[in-house]
Amino acid sequence: MKNENLIYPFTAIVGQEKMKNSLILNAINPKLGGVLIRGEKGTAKSIAVRALANLLPEIDVVADCKFGCNPHKRASMCQECTNRLERREELPIKKRKTRVVELPVGSTEDRVIGTLDIEHAIKKGEKRFEPGVLAEANRGILYVDEVNLLDDHIVDVLLDSAAMGVNVVEREGVSYSHPAEFILIGTMNPEEGELRPQLLDRFGLCVHIEGIADLDQRVEIVKRRAFYEQDPAGFQKTWKEEEEKIRKAIIRARELLGQVNISDEILYLIAQIALDMNVDGHRADIMMMKASITLASFNGRREVLKEDVQSAADMALQHRMRRKPFHKPGVEEEKIAGIISHAHPHRHEYVHTHSHSHKT
Ligand SMILES: [Zn+2]
Repeated sequence: MKNENLIYPFTAIVGQEKMKNSLILNAINPKLGGVLIRGEKGTAKSIAVRALANLLPEIDVVADCKFGCNPHKRASMCQECTNRLERREELPIKKRKTRVVELPVGSTEDRVIGTLDIEHAIKKGEKRFEPGVLAEANRGILYVDEVNLLDDHIVDVLLDSAAMGVNVVEREGVSYSHPAEFILIGTMNPEEGELRPQLLDRFGLCVHIEGIADLDQRVEIVKRRAFYEQDPAGFQKTWKEEEEKIRKAIIRARELLGQVNISDEILYLIAQIALDMNVDGHRADIMMMKASITLASFNGRREVLKEDVQSAADMALQHRMRRKPFHKPGVEEEKIAGIISHAHPHRHEYVHTHSHSHKT
């Protein structure tokens, strides 16, 4: 990664707050299940993803493991690393930046999940595995541009892996699995075709982004871009403090995440929003809860407030509502704000009123 210091700073991206927020939330809490960024071309999507990775703290990896296992977390190690530990070998550790692995257009399933050498397994009785994209993406970010143009089956495999944190490869009765914990970030331009609703629903969050209409902001984008292209190092220096601030906020939020309380009042509010917004199933409620908790941690709080729910609802519901044609963006946000402002603490007499600490 020789161009590492040429990466555009995350905090220097003008506007697009929802996209930036959704990325940060996934960086804090990988269990949010990734984000789908919908919008037109040329809206800084891939710049933002690379900038996010650059912002994240370095991670410890087992230096010679092809999956980059976490040396401090035995439960999520690959079979080889586990075997080595059982033989009381010491695992060599090195630091690594968070990777962004981009799924090449037209990738085959083999390229994505990796390949098992069946002949070798039958002859020698040992499993020889050629890692694929999912192995490379372990503990990093998997970036899928134009996810709507991928084969449905491949999207299915990606979403399965993202949800379970494991990649399972099965060939002719031989099975091999390895850790594949990654943040899935997909982008798509809805004008070029939709994702099936079943696939949409499995992305934890979704944001819709547009080109910026504000004149001042447009000028600011051009100015920053010019400065950056002329003197990338100088530009980065200007943003160093902002970058450091947000990096620290992410680290602090990760520590706080397990301690955030969510009251029954907030849970009722979430359920009410899901009902009023006309969503199918319960995933919307669960994602609103997880995203609200993560937002609270990012804001340095141990308590979820209504304002967290407002931002979380927008990201968790975008892709789960039964949409009407000629839908205007922003309408839902207003409706959600209305539900929140009209909500009153109710039904508490029927339930336990204590707060729960939810594992997310
Ligand atoms: Zn390993």
